[in-house]
Amino acid sequence: AREAIAQHLDAFGIDPAAPASNWIAGRLIAGDGETITLIDPVTGAPLLSYRDAGAALVEQAIEAAAAAQVEWMALTASERGRRLQGAARGLEGHEEALARLESLIAGKPVGDCRGEVAKVREMFEYYAGWCDKQHGEVIDVPTTHLNYVQRIPYGVVGQITPWNAPMFTCGWQLAPALAAGNAAVLKPSELTPLTSALIAMLVERGGRLPAGLIGIVNGLGHTTGQALTAHPRIAKLVFVGSPETGRRIAEAGAQRLVPSVLELGGKSANIVFDDASLEDAVSGAQAAIFAGAGQSCVAGSRLLLQESLLPAFTERLARAAEAIAVGLPTDDATRMGPLQNAAQYRRVHALIDEALAQGATLLTGGKAPAGLPEETADGYFLAPTILTDVTPEMTIANEEVFGPVLVVMTFRDEQEAVALANATRFGLAGAVWSRDTAKALRIAHQLRAGTVWVNSYKTINVMSPFGGLGESGYGRSSGLDGLREYTLPRSVWVET
Ligand code: NAD
Repeated sequence: AREAIAQHLDAFGIDPAAPASNWIAGRLIAGDGETITLIDPVTGAPLLSYRDAGAALVEQAIEAAAAAQVEWMALTASERGRRLQGAARGLEGHEEALARLESLIAGKPVGDCRGEVAKVREMFEYYAGWCDKQHGEVIDVPTTHLNYVQRIPYGVVGQITPWNAPMFTCGWQLAPALAAGNAAVLKPSELTPLTSALIAMLVERGGRLPAGLIGIVNGLGHTTGQALTAHPRIAKLVFVGSPETGRRIAEAGAQRLVPSVLELGGKSANIVFDDASLEDAVSGAQAAIFAGAGQSCVAGSRLLLQESLLPAFTERLARAAEAIAVGLPTDDATRMGPLQNAAQYRRVHALIDEALAQGATLLTGGKAPAGLPEETADGYFLAPTILTDVTPEMTIANEEVFGPVLVVMTFRDEQEAVALANATRFGLAGAVWSRDTAKALRIAHQLRAGTVWVNSYKTINVMSPFGGLGESGYGRSSGLDGLREYTLPRSVWVET
């Protein structure tokens, strides 16, 4: 893996011995702070080291972004749209290298990584189309004034992202920020630093964007991350990550009185009624939790089954889970790779152990799957895991695991299904499976969640808004709502 990463970096003009991991003012620049060593999730061995960007490079990135934003807004809206179309095309020919690099670093199946790159392109194309379709409005005020409202950009926005889908998240937040007329400085997770910087380089070059319009600064949360959130020129903070860090980001914003968008975790309920297509529900339930090894904010981590479905449904589900191809992330056939990092691996095991101690039953999984190559002995693999006999009071029924661990609980009727589904401090997503559409919609409309699926799971699109409530955060990404987060209204009064 070290060799393969070195080759990819070399092809992008980056020295693997001292990687220039930041994209600032149109250049790749190495940090000079603390050395951060990435660990290969497949083997547990060191992969690559780079140095923390730190406050001085954050400052440089923000200064460059502020200047570039003025240039950006001096272009016509249509020209900004054409440039963002060019930005999308800038990825052409580099998709496979980006996917392979992320697969090696994040331990994520290469097929999933290819999907991420395709989404980044789609997001730039979609938001490019919005550039010249944003307009203000005239308010029919009861005075002699002409009053009109403009939608203006914030200026420079700060973005902080997690490790589970680094490229997706990067495109998801950069594209609308730029389309709304902002510059953006983004700090990826310290565990997955490189692909965001390369995406920024490729889209900035492809779109002939003003140098510095995108800044990528890599480093730890309490150094580079804090320097970004505390900087007086950052006019809005957009954070994707855990509720614990989300709180800190919102507090940092509160100190400077700047607004934030928080896309946080979840403990989403997947509700199956006995009149559902069981085949569809089984395949939907396993994909809902085991895709991305459960390291997905919308993972369907609580399976709520109507009582009569036990035990046939869970037996079928266990067989489906055991059939998932767990293996090396770089193999095309692999559907599930390891967990991304050691801390996550330990946390997931601790939560499983606690659940078993509290009385849950292990239906399948709980350890590394058999048949993996020897070199993975110290890697972070965990087989798809299903726990039954789980009660709503147990820790595992309430905490986000962020791993391939499904808990199963049962309900008698509609009312109990809704009560169980909503018995969470999160509110990101949920799903209902039933052939009775009226019932499914009745339930869907009672779920306290930002996204609800009926007879489906995890379908998302850049055109549709996404976000949570409760401890899943606030504000929206994607679609027109996601674009609007990056603008603010200015009301202009003209005496006539
Ligand atoms: P995390 O909160 O540990 O870290 C996220 C980012 O915050 C990283 O870049 C980190 O360096 C940075 N950070 C940490 N402390 C900071 C500080 N004091 N100041 C500034 N930045 C700081 O999250 P993670 O472990 O990387 O990601 C997993 C979490 O992300 C899960 O809870 C998951 O549900 C959530 N997530 C949510 C969504 C969504 O859209 N709702 C999407 C993906 C992941």
